[in-house]
Amino acid sequence: MIVPLSLPKNSSSIVFLQIAHFTIKEYLIKNYIKALLLRESMTRIAVIEKEKCINGEGCPFLCGSVCPVNRSGKECITLSGDNKPIIDEDLCIGCGICPKRCPAECISIINLPAELENPIHRYGVNGFSLYNLPVPIFGKVVGILGRNGIGKSTALKILAGQINPNFGKDKESSYDELIDYFKGSEAQLFFEKVKEKKIKISFKPQQVDLIAKTQKGKVRDLLEKVDEKKKLSVIAKELDIEKILGHDISNISGGELQRVAIAACVLKNANLYVFDEPSSYLDIKQRIKVSKFIRNLADENTAVLVVEHDLIILDYMTDLVHIMYGKEGAYGVVSGVKATKNGINVYLEGYLKEENIRFRDKKISFPAKPPVIEKEGAELVRWEGIEKTLDSFNLKSAEGSISKKDSIGVLGENGIGKTTFVKILAGIIKPNKGELNSQVKVSYKPQYIVAEKDVFVREILKNSLEKYSTELIKPLQLERLLDKQITHLSGGELQRVAIAVCLSHEADLYLLDEPSAYLDVEQRLTVSKIIKELMENWGKTALVVDHDLLFIDHLSDRLMVFEGEPAINGEALGPFAMEEGMNLFLKDLILTMRRDKESNRPRINKPGSQMDRKQKQEGKLYYG
Ligand code: ADP
Ligand code: SF4
Ligand code: SF4
Repeated sequence: MIVPLSLPKNSSSIVFLQIAHFTIKEYLIKNYIKALLLRESMTRIAVIEKEKCINGEGCPFLCGSVCPVNRSGKECITLSGDNKPIIDEDLCIGCGICPKRCPAECISIINLPAELENPIHRYGVNGFSLYNLPVPIFGKVVGILGRNGIGKSTALKILAGQINPNFGKDKESSYDELIDYFKGSEAQLFFEKVKEKKIKISFKPQQVDLIAKTQKGKVRDLLEKVDEKKKLSVIAKELDIEKILGHDISNISGGELQRVAIAACVLKNANLYVFDEPSSYLDIKQRIKVSKFIRNLADENTAVLVVEHDLIILDYMTDLVHIMYGKEGAYGVVSGVKATKNGINVYLEGYLKEENIRFRDKKISFPAKPPVIEKEGAELVRWEGIEKTLDSFNLKSAEGSISKKDSIGVLGENGIGKTTFVKILAGIIKPNKGELNSQVKVSYKPQYIVAEKDVFVREILKNSLEKYSTELIKPLQLERLLDKQITHLSGGELQRVAIAVCLSHEADLYLLDEPSAYLDVEQRLTVSKIIKELMENWGKTALVVDHDLLFIDHLSDRLMVFEGEPAINGEALGPFAMEEGMNLFLKDLILTMRRDKESNRPRINKPGSQMDRKQKQEGKLYYG
């Protein structure tokens, strides 16, 4: 695919004098020359995702035979020792034929603005390139916002000294080169400190569920091993994990695992703490608590970097953000640092003013007012006076009903009975009291997805491929995963496969438990749109449990709210209209949210602030 980028401001100024009167022919010539001149001011990179190339296994080196440069007798695309193609970027004329003809869609030819001539790091010939780096700042929490596969982990590894950057050349560079590269900027000071070994980094990885697979033993023993600060009891209290210190790491929930991983990270003596997606699996109360905890880490001797896709939490947790844009798997660019409020708005807008770069063709917007439900679908199931006791946990629900065509957001803490309630609707467990007027067939995506066997994604998605190629496979970008083994997928890839599997089953009610985990912002918005549209088109119902309020806001026609005390009792309330449901939910959290004036996105109000008090008085906790 040829990826056009909008051009640097100065490149158009070199082009033309204003001509007041001209003919169509002159106009066309003018634009042709303009295009040629602009081409001169661009750098071209060719990226081949080698693991997807099927040369010799269904593709007879097609790229090499269609390339016009090859056909003219030169060697633009050749085969390397591993039998995969290499593109000579100096010979390539950017005609765009090979990416179009490649059956595995693994070639990208990209025209970059001239400013991006030198990457910080490139993973070998025709590999992913990273331009610029985020810069940690002492006393601040700096966020990184961008799609998956855009180079965030690569950037963090360079900062952590785990990857020695090569500046796009075939040898590793020294730290002096990195210092030189950033001369005169904040980054220079930072890398000087790294070189002098004055920076000690502690890192919380993204996929906390992998920790339970690689570590064995009691939580307390594992945390004691890393407790360089000798503060285990204080941190355990702050992160609310005291009760599980005696538990085996393999038996704790995802939300607990996340907080144990955060504790392990901060117990180490370091002056740069890096958190890759600290909110996954945490419910909203925990997200807010962890946000405050992370904010408090930053001081004049400590810098904090966070990668986070829950925009409300990113907004709440960070002072500044870097935006990362580019093309997944091909190249990533780190923007200059911005104040968080502005940075998130710029990201949603899809346009970086300072750099004059448009990185998305549409802006992402949010409604300022609650949605108006135009017409209700037929009733799917109604319940009355339900009660269920499971060991020492009790769940009840007075009365309620759900309709066809509805996407219902479900909010509530972990361990409060959300899954139990749906199992009752599905007839999997029987209530002790109360009645349902019918039973519904449920398709369920659990919160934690485990890929145990080595099976190809193509096999797992057989159903979706046969029936829902346009509805699911394409928008969830699953084609590129079909020939991978399920155990080799990243957290976000596995999540998208699990969502497609759940939605491709025949059912009346689709229950998706935390589908946003590990998805980036754009994928979250795509998934919410798919669920909403499919339910409308199919006349079916979705219940979506999630803790990302923006995701729930984007997806839901109505809300169910679960209240109570986790692991002791829970009450299912609703479904309500959005405003009523959000008010109930936020009242319990003692929080209010205002709308950002520019983007309409919800933002958490500072408790006790003027807006917070005003909204509480008016009873408008969410749409204030
Ligand atoms: P993010 O953290 O934003 O998801 P990554 O930094 O993990 O992105 O990866 C960016 C791209 O770099 C990936 O899509 C992959 O194609 C490439 N990549 C990552 N690690 C390697 C490696 N060790 N060798 C070659 N390419 C890699
Ligand atoms: Fe050859 Fe470049 Fe055209 Fe591909 S884009 S066919 S490598 S000239
Ligand atoms: Fe590989 Fe695509 Fe070239 Fe075929 S056309 S050899 S699949 S890169």
